[in-house]
Amino acid sequence: MDGPGEFEIIARYFTRRALDPAVRVGIGDDAAIVATEGELAIAVDTLVAGTHFPPALDPAAIGHRALAVNLSDLAAVGARPRWATLALSLRSVDTSWLEAFAQGFFRLADAHGVTLIGGDTTRGELAITVGIFGDSAPAPLLRSGGRAGDRVLVSGTLGDSAAALGHFATAPAQRPPEAEELIRRFAYPEPRVALGRALAGLAHAAIDVSDGLLADLGHICRQSGCGAVVDLDALPLSPALLNLHPERAESFALSGGDDYELCFTVAPRDVGQVREIAAGLGTAVTEIGELTAETGMRGRRGDTTHPLVATGYVHF
Ligand code: ADP
Ligand code: MG
Repeated sequence: MDGPGEFEIIARYFTRRALDPAVRVGIGDDAAIVATEGELAIAVDTLVAGTHFPPALDPAAIGHRALAVNLSDLAAVGARPRWATLALSLRSVDTSWLEAFAQGFFRLADAHGVTLIGGDTTRGELAITVGIFGDSAPAPLLRSGGRAGDRVLVSGTLGDSAAALGHFATAPAQRPPEAEELIRRFAYPEPRVALGRALAGLAHAAIDVSDGLLADLGHICRQSGCGAVVDLDALPLSPALLNLHPERAESFALSGGDDYELCFTVAPRDVGQVREIAAGLGTAVTEIGELTAETGMRGRRGDTTHPLVATGYVHF
Protein backbone atom coordinates (compact mmCIF):
# COMPACT_ATOMS: atom_id res chain seq x y z
CA MET A 1 0.00 0.00 0.00
CA ASP A 2 1.15 3.57 -0.64
CA GLY A 3 1.62 6.04 2.25
CA PRO A 4 1.75 4.32 5.62
CA GLY A 5 1.97 0.56 5.21
CA GLU A 6 -0.48 -2.01 6.50
CA PHE A 7 1.22 -2.39 9.87
CA GLU A 8 1.59 1.34 10.37
CA ILE A 9 -2.13 1.79 9.66
CA ILE A 10 -3.03 -0.88 12.19
CA ALA A 11 -0.69 0.60 14.80
CA ARG A 12 -1.66 4.22 14.19
CA TYR A 13 -5.43 4.00 13.81
CA PHE A 14 -6.66 0.77 15.33
CA THR A 15 -4.38 -0.27 18.17
CA ARG A 16 -5.37 0.97 21.58
CA ARG A 17 -4.69 -0.29 25.06
CA ALA A 18 -7.32 -2.92 25.88
CA LEU A 19 -9.06 -1.91 29.08
CA ASP A 20 -11.02 -5.15 29.29
CA PRO A 21 -9.06 -7.60 31.49
CA ALA A 22 -10.79 -10.48 29.69
CA VAL A 23 -8.73 -9.64 26.57
CA ARG A 24 -5.58 -11.69 27.09
CA VAL A 25 -4.23 -11.08 23.59
CA GLY A 26 -5.55 -8.24 21.45
CA ILE A 27 -4.30 -6.71 18.20
CA GLY A 28 -0.76 -7.68 17.24
CA ASP A 29 -0.57 -11.45 17.31
CA ASP A 30 -1.94 -14.13 15.00
CA ALA A 31 -5.20 -14.44 16.88
CA ALA A 32 -6.93 -12.65 19.71
CA ILE A 33 -7.52 -14.56 22.93
CA VAL A 34 -10.33 -13.67 25.33
CA ALA A 35 -11.53 -15.21 28.56
CA THR A 36 -15.20 -16.12 28.49
CA GLU A 37 -17.81 -17.33 30.90
CA GLY A 38 -20.96 -18.94 29.62
CA GLU A 39 -22.49 -18.63 26.16
CA LEU A 40 -21.37 -16.20 23.45
CA ALA A 41 -23.57 -14.30 20.98
CA ILE A 42 -21.73 -13.80 17.68
CA ALA A 43 -22.65 -11.81 14.56
CA VAL A 44 -20.89 -10.45 11.48
CA ASP A 45 -21.96 -7.91 8.86
CA THR A 46 -20.30 -6.49 5.75
CA LEU A 47 -20.87 -2.99 4.43
CA VAL A 48 -19.88 -2.52 0.78
CA ALA A 49 -19.45 1.00 -0.60
CA GLY A 50 -22.11 1.74 -3.20
CA THR A 51 -24.32 -1.11 -1.97
CA HIS A 52 -24.80 -0.35 1.72
CA PHE A 53 -23.73 3.30 1.84
CA PRO A 54 -22.82 6.04 -0.64
CA PRO A 55 -19.00 5.93 -1.06
CA ALA A 56 -18.76 9.66 -0.27
CA LEU A 57 -20.51 9.27 3.10
CA ASP A 58 -18.63 10.96 5.96
CA PRO A 59 -15.97 8.41 7.01
CA ALA A 60 -16.84 8.92 10.70
CA ALA A 61 -20.37 7.80 9.83
CA ILE A 62 -19.02 4.76 7.94
CA GLY A 63 -17.00 3.76 11.02
CA HIS A 64 -20.03 4.28 13.26
CA ARG A 65 -22.38 2.41 10.97
CA ALA A 66 -20.09 -0.58 10.44
CA LEU A 67 -20.10 -1.21 14.18
CA ALA A 68 -23.69 -0.06 14.80
CA VAL A 69 -25.26 -2.65 12.49
CA ASN A 70 -23.45 -5.39 14.40
CA LEU A 71 -24.33 -3.99 17.81
CA SER A 72 -27.91 -3.95 16.57
CA ASP A 73 -27.75 -7.69 15.86
CA LEU A 74 -26.58 -8.39 19.40
CA ALA A 75 -29.26 -6.03 20.73
CA ALA A 76 -31.85 -8.08 18.88
CA VAL A 77 -30.90 -11.23 20.80
CA GLY A 78 -30.54 -9.35 24.08
CA ALA A 79 -26.79 -9.91 24.35
CA ARG A 80 -24.10 -7.73 25.93
CA PRO A 81 -21.53 -6.78 23.26
CA ARG A 82 -17.88 -7.05 24.33
CA TRP A 83 -15.37 -7.59 21.51
CA ALA A 84 -15.20 -6.71 17.83
CA THR A 85 -13.04 -7.55 14.83
CA LEU A 86 -12.63 -5.24 11.84
CA ALA A 87 -11.72 -6.34 8.32
CA LEU A 88 -11.08 -3.31 6.18
CA SER A 89 -10.67 -3.31 2.41
CA LEU A 90 -9.42 0.05 1.12
CA ARG A 91 -8.87 1.34 -2.41
CA SER A 92 -6.04 3.59 -1.25
CA VAL A 93 -4.60 4.94 1.97
CA ASP A 94 -6.13 8.28 2.84
CA THR A 95 -4.93 9.22 6.30
CA SER A 96 -7.64 11.79 7.02
CA TRP A 97 -10.28 9.25 5.93
CA LEU A 98 -8.77 6.61 8.24
CA GLU A 99 -8.56 9.07 11.12
CA ALA A 100 -12.25 9.99 10.84
CA PHE A 101 -13.31 6.38 10.25
CA ALA A 102 -11.47 5.22 13.38
CA GLN A 103 -12.90 8.11 15.38
CA GLY A 104 -16.48 7.19 14.40
CA PHE A 105 -15.84 3.52 15.10
CA PHE A 106 -14.23 4.00 18.51
CA ARG A 107 -16.68 6.63 19.72
CA LEU A 108 -19.47 4.08 19.42
CA ALA A 109 -17.27 1.21 20.67
CA ASP A 110 -16.40 3.21 23.79
CA ALA A 111 -20.04 4.09 24.40
CA HIS A 112 -20.82 0.36 24.56
CA GLY A 113 -17.64 -0.84 26.29
CA VAL A 114 -16.59 -2.80 23.20
CA THR A 115 -12.90 -3.62 22.60
CA LEU A 116 -11.46 -4.02 19.09
CA ILE A 117 -9.40 -7.22 19.35
CA GLY A 118 -8.27 -7.86 15.78
CA GLY A 119 -8.96 -7.61 12.11
CA ASP A 120 -7.48 -7.54 8.65
CA THR A 121 -6.37 -4.73 6.36
CA THR A 122 -6.23 -5.24 2.61
CA ARG A 123 -6.40 -3.32 -0.64
CA GLY A 124 -9.57 -3.63 -2.69
CA GLU A 125 -12.91 -1.94 -3.22
CA LEU A 126 -14.02 -0.08 -0.09
CA ALA A 127 -15.74 -2.61 2.17
CA ILE A 128 -15.89 -3.09 5.91
CA THR A 129 -16.64 -6.31 7.74
CA VAL A 130 -17.14 -6.14 11.49
CA GLY A 131 -17.50 -9.20 13.67
CA ILE A 132 -18.99 -8.86 17.12
CA PHE A 133 -18.85 -11.15 20.14
CA GLY A 134 -20.76 -10.74 23.35
CA ASP A 135 -22.25 -12.41 26.37
CA SER A 136 -25.54 -14.08 25.56
CA ALA A 137 -28.51 -13.36 27.79
CA PRO A 138 -29.62 -16.37 29.88
CA ALA A 139 -32.89 -16.29 27.90
CA PRO A 140 -31.89 -14.88 24.50
CA LEU A 141 -34.48 -13.10 22.36
CA LEU A 142 -35.19 -15.17 19.26
CA ARG A 143 -37.25 -14.63 16.14
CA SER A 144 -39.07 -17.86 16.86
CA GLY A 145 -40.55 -17.02 20.27
CA GLY A 146 -43.65 -15.09 19.16
CA ARG A 147 -47.15 -16.31 20.11
CA ALA A 148 -50.55 -15.44 18.69
CA GLY A 149 -52.01 -12.60 20.77
CA ASP A 150 -48.59 -11.00 21.46
CA ARG A 151 -48.47 -7.26 20.99
CA VAL A 152 -45.93 -6.06 18.42
CA LEU A 153 -43.83 -3.04 19.36
CA VAL A 154 -41.01 -1.09 17.71
CA SER A 155 -38.45 1.31 19.11
CA GLY A 156 -37.77 4.78 17.69
CA THR A 157 -39.16 5.82 14.33
CA LEU A 158 -39.28 3.93 11.02
CA GLY A 159 -38.53 4.91 7.44
CA ASP A 160 -36.10 7.77 8.00
CA SER A 161 -33.00 6.01 6.69
CA ALA A 162 -34.69 4.76 3.54
CA ALA A 163 -36.03 8.25 2.84
CA ALA A 164 -32.53 9.69 3.36
CA LEU A 165 -31.07 7.80 0.38
CA GLY A 166 -32.87 10.00 -2.13
CA HIS A 167 -31.29 13.13 -0.65
CA PHE A 168 -27.62 12.20 -0.98
CA ALA A 169 -27.57 13.35 -4.60
CA THR A 170 -28.50 16.91 -3.55
CA ALA A 171 -25.65 19.20 -2.51
CA PRO A 172 -25.71 19.68 1.28
CA ALA A 173 -26.27 23.44 0.96
CA GLN A 174 -29.36 22.78 -1.17
CA ARG A 175 -30.95 20.28 1.23
CA PRO A 176 -33.83 21.25 3.50
CA PRO A 177 -33.06 20.82 7.22
CA GLU A 178 -35.40 17.80 7.39
CA ALA A 179 -33.24 16.04 4.78
CA GLU A 180 -30.19 16.59 6.99
CA GLU A 181 -32.12 15.03 9.85
CA LEU A 182 -32.97 11.96 7.74
CA ILE A 183 -29.37 11.66 6.56
CA ARG A 184 -28.19 11.85 10.17
CA ARG A 185 -30.50 8.92 10.98
CA PHE A 186 -29.03 6.91 8.10
CA ALA A 187 -25.44 7.83 8.94
CA TYR A 188 -25.59 7.37 12.71
CA PRO A 189 -28.07 4.61 13.58
CA GLU A 190 -28.38 4.11 17.33
CA PRO A 191 -28.26 0.41 18.16
CA ARG A 192 -30.79 -0.38 20.89
CA VAL A 193 -28.43 -2.44 23.02
CA ALA A 194 -29.75 -1.45 26.45
CA LEU A 195 -33.35 -2.00 25.37
CA GLY A 196 -32.54 -5.42 23.90
CA ARG A 197 -30.77 -6.52 27.06
CA ALA A 198 -33.69 -5.34 29.19
CA LEU A 199 -36.18 -7.19 26.98
CA ALA A 200 -34.39 -10.54 27.23
CA GLY A 201 -36.52 -12.79 29.42
CA LEU A 202 -39.50 -10.45 29.05
CA ALA A 203 -40.25 -10.15 25.32
CA HIS A 204 -41.18 -13.33 23.43
CA ALA A 205 -39.51 -12.57 20.09
CA ALA A 206 -37.34 -9.82 18.60
CA ILE A 207 -35.51 -8.79 15.45
CA ASP A 208 -33.67 -5.65 14.42
CA VAL A 209 -35.23 -3.80 11.51
CA SER A 210 -32.48 -3.85 8.89
CA ASP A 211 -34.35 -4.85 5.73
CA GLY A 212 -37.68 -3.10 6.42
CA LEU A 213 -40.46 -3.63 8.96
CA LEU A 214 -42.57 -5.96 6.82
CA ALA A 215 -39.60 -8.09 5.80
CA ASP A 216 -38.29 -8.33 9.35
CA LEU A 217 -41.63 -8.76 11.13
CA GLY A 218 -42.25 -11.36 8.42
CA HIS A 219 -39.24 -13.30 9.73
CA ILE A 220 -40.71 -13.29 13.25
CA CYS A 221 -44.05 -14.44 11.85
CA ARG A 222 -42.60 -17.29 9.78
CA GLN A 223 -40.26 -18.49 12.48
CA SER A 224 -42.96 -18.23 15.15
CA GLY A 225 -45.64 -19.87 12.99
CA CYS A 226 -47.89 -16.80 13.27
CA GLY A 227 -49.22 -13.93 11.21
CA ALA A 228 -49.49 -10.28 12.16
CA VAL A 229 -51.85 -7.33 11.92
CA VAL A 230 -50.15 -3.93 11.69
CA ASP A 231 -52.05 -0.79 12.70
CA LEU A 232 -50.99 1.49 9.87
CA ASP A 233 -51.97 4.65 11.69
CA ALA A 234 -49.84 3.66 14.67
CA LEU A 235 -46.52 3.46 12.75
CA PRO A 236 -44.02 5.79 14.45
CA LEU A 237 -43.04 8.38 11.83
CA SER A 238 -40.61 11.22 12.50
CA PRO A 239 -41.63 14.85 11.92
CA ALA A 240 -38.81 15.12 9.36
CA LEU A 241 -40.19 12.17 7.37
CA LEU A 242 -43.77 13.41 7.56
CA ASN A 243 -42.86 16.95 6.53
CA LEU A 244 -40.65 15.96 3.63
CA HIS A 245 -42.48 12.88 2.32
CA PRO A 246 -46.09 13.02 3.52
CA GLU A 247 -47.27 10.75 0.70
CA ARG A 248 -44.54 8.13 0.95
CA ALA A 249 -43.88 8.15 4.71
CA GLU A 250 -45.93 5.02 5.37
CA SER A 251 -44.33 3.02 2.58
CA PHE A 252 -40.83 4.06 3.71
CA ALA A 253 -41.77 2.90 7.22
CA LEU A 254 -43.15 -0.45 6.03
CA SER A 255 -40.62 -1.34 3.36
CA GLY A 256 -37.53 0.84 3.81
CA GLY A 257 -34.45 -0.71 5.38
CA ASP A 258 -31.56 0.53 7.53
CA ASP A 259 -33.58 1.68 10.55
CA TYR A 260 -31.81 -0.56 13.08
CA GLU A 261 -34.71 -0.25 15.48
CA LEU A 262 -35.93 -3.26 17.44
CA CYS A 263 -39.22 -4.92 16.55
CA PHE A 264 -40.38 -7.24 19.33
CA THR A 265 -43.43 -9.05 20.62
CA VAL A 266 -44.68 -9.25 24.21
CA ALA A 267 -47.61 -10.76 26.06
CA PRO A 268 -50.38 -8.14 26.42
CA ARG A 269 -49.98 -8.10 30.21
CA ASP A 270 -46.28 -7.16 29.89
CA VAL A 271 -46.73 -4.13 27.63
CA GLY A 272 -46.93 -1.78 30.62
CA GLN A 273 -43.67 -3.09 32.08
CA VAL A 274 -41.97 -2.75 28.69
CA ARG A 275 -43.16 0.86 28.45
CA GLU A 276 -41.71 1.61 31.89
CA ILE A 277 -38.37 0.04 30.99
CA ALA A 278 -38.19 1.94 27.71
CA ALA A 279 -39.12 5.22 29.41
CA GLY A 280 -36.34 4.61 31.94
CA LEU A 281 -33.88 4.20 29.06
CA GLY A 282 -35.20 7.26 27.23
CA THR A 283 -36.10 5.12 24.22
CA ALA A 284 -39.49 5.56 22.56
CA VAL A 285 -41.44 2.37 21.95
CA THR A 286 -44.71 2.17 20.04
CA GLU A 287 -47.28 -0.61 19.89
CA ILE A 288 -48.00 -1.21 16.21
CA GLY A 289 -50.13 -4.34 16.13
CA GLU A 290 -50.34 -7.94 17.21
CA LEU A 291 -49.42 -11.47 16.22
CA THR A 292 -52.27 -13.61 14.94
CA ALA A 293 -52.85 -17.36 14.72
CA GLU A 294 -53.73 -16.89 11.05
CA THR A 295 -50.52 -16.65 9.00
CA GLY A 296 -49.73 -13.76 6.65
CA MET A 297 -49.48 -10.07 7.39
CA ARG A 298 -52.35 -7.62 7.21
CA GLY A 299 -52.56 -3.85 7.54
CA ARG A 300 -55.38 -2.40 9.60
CA ARG A 301 -56.90 1.06 9.27
CA GLY A 302 -60.00 1.67 11.36
CA ASP A 303 -62.23 -1.36 10.93
CA THR A 304 -60.79 -2.64 7.67
CA THR A 305 -57.75 -4.80 7.01
CA HIS A 306 -55.93 -5.69 3.81
CA PRO A 307 -53.02 -8.03 3.01
CA LEU A 308 -49.53 -6.54 3.22
CA VAL A 309 -46.82 -7.81 0.92
CA ALA A 310 -43.34 -7.88 2.42
CA THR A 311 -41.05 -6.08 -0.01
CA GLY A 312 -37.97 -5.46 2.07
CA TYR A 313 -34.48 -5.05 0.74
CA VAL A 314 -33.40 -8.23 -1.01
CA HIS A 315 -29.70 -8.63 -1.71
CA PHE A 316 -29.88 -11.17 -4.54
P1 ADP B 1 -1.94 -12.20 10.01
O1 ADP B 1 -1.14 -11.97 8.78
O2 ADP B 1 -1.33 -13.11 11.00
O3 ADP B 1 -3.40 -12.51 9.70
P2 ADP B 1 -2.10 -9.40 10.07
O4 ADP B 1 -0.74 -9.01 9.64
O5 ADP B 1 -3.19 -9.39 9.08
O6 ADP B 1 -1.97 -10.81 10.77
O7 ADP B 1 -2.54 -8.49 11.26
C1 ADP B 1 -1.66 -8.18 12.32
C2 ADP B 1 -2.48 -7.90 13.57
O8 ADP B 1 -3.26 -6.73 13.37
C3 ADP B 1 -3.45 -9.01 13.91
O9 ADP B 1 -3.52 -9.07 15.33
C4 ADP B 1 -4.75 -8.52 13.34
O10 ADP B 1 -5.85 -9.06 14.07
C5 ADP B 1 -4.64 -7.03 13.52
N1 ADP B 1 -5.34 -6.23 12.51
C6 ADP B 1 -5.13 -6.17 11.17
N2 ADP B 1 -5.94 -5.29 10.57
C7 ADP B 1 -6.71 -4.75 11.55
C8 ADP B 1 -7.76 -3.78 11.59
N3 ADP B 1 -8.22 -3.17 10.49
N4 ADP B 1 -8.32 -3.51 12.78
C9 ADP B 1 -7.91 -4.12 13.90
N5 ADP B 1 -6.92 -5.02 13.94
C10 ADP B 1 -6.32 -5.35 12.78
MG1 MG C 1 -4.35 -11.14 8.29
